[in-house]
Amino acid sequence: MAKSDYYELLGVSRDASPEEIKKAYRKQALKYHPDKHKGDKAMEEKFKEVSEAYEVLKDADKRAAYDRYGHAAFEGGGGGAGGMGGMGGFRGGAHVDPFDLFREVFGGGGGGSPFDDLFGGGMGGGGGSSARAGADLRYNLEISLVEAYKGMEKEISYRSAVACDRCHGEGAEPGSSVITCPTCGGAGRVVTSRGFFQVQQACPTCGGAGRVPERKCTKCGGEGRVMEQRKVKLRIPPGIDTGQRLRSSGNGEAGMMGGPAGDLYVVIQVKDHSVFDRQGDDLYCDVPIKFTLAALGGQIEVPTLSNESGMVSLKIPAGTQSGTVFKLRDRGMPRLRGGGHGDQFVRVQIEVPKKLNHEQRKHLEAFARASGDADQPVEESFWEKAKKIFD
Ligand SMILES: [Zn+2]
Ligand SMILES: [Zn+2]
Repeated sequence: MAKSDYYELLGVSRDASPEEIKKAYRKQALKYHPDKHKGDKAMEEKFKEVSEAYEVLKDADKRAAYDRYGHAAFEGGGGGAGGMGGMGGFRGGAHVDPFDLFREVFGGGGGGSPFDDLFGGGMGGGGGSSARAGADLRYNLEISLVEAYKGMEKEISYRSAVACDRCHGEGAEPGSSVITCPTCGGAGRVVTSRGFFQVQQACPTCGGAGRVPERKCTKCGGEGRVMEQRKVKLRIPPGIDTGQRLRSSGNGEAGMMGGPAGDLYVVIQVKDHSVFDRQGDDLYCDVPIKFTLAALGGQIEVPTLSNESGMVSLKIPAGTQSGTVFKLRDRGMPRLRGGGHGDQFVRVQIEVPKKLNHEQRKHLEAFARASGDADQPVEESFWEKAKKIFD
């Protein structure tokens, strides 16, 4: 189901002040409150939507994330979040970070793809049963066609939660220990009432971890992780294409309370090239040639990515027609799987001079006379076909 715009739900403008948002929410919540419309499912739904909108817009960080990414900013929770009622969709209930990257859980992720673990070991493993895994992160990386051809190393920089070094990710101030959460008794979830219906939520005390530090770490406030600018060096394999993703295991968000880190997914976008059009592993380009060359035949240089000079010679046979496509074997993109290269295809476009000087005109007129072109400017076989257009 498509979600409504949060600002529209509350009936405020996009630059509304926090005060205005609060006022608008009170008004709407009163209007749709389940106590006033007992058993009216539509009203109940509306009330949930309005509450959800307010949950986001009242929080400066969440609001910034929403302004930037829309509802997608909060959709990371995926599967598990279902059935949590209006507050569903927030991963773990409260943590939404307005960063350059946003969380994304990839369907069917990972195993066996040749792109996995291209850049070596992660932090992985570890963590007790009540610890929470860190979220996966997505980073969109745009590269040029030449970079995709050659492959390369690239360092990317992004903000992400990393394990707190003061408490080693445990959330407890050094010297104190980690105990079972007194609010949820270690379950990680609590059931609360909203109006007349019940909502299951992540425990607000432990954030779903089930354990809490006796004394919270003074650096991370007990979360076990802090936000940091991180750098990761990526190895981009030759032949990579738009939409393919690289996984860097363990370079996603750090887990909470010592939970395992998520993965970083780098999604590749290869920019369009001014000369080459890529189709899979093949490259296509158009090369204009003179009409005299097409008639007489000869040798031309055409652009290629397949050698350092950027040029390769191509033989044009006499009598080449406009639109003829020549194949340069193995001069296309490197194949990501199985080795080798695709092919390069060169389509020639025959250029007719737009202007003739006296000398050129004289010779061309002589050519036309010699060919009998003046008497028969259009090929006879074409007229034979053209006579049948109404048959
Ligand atoms: Zn800490
Ligand atoms: Zn708890």
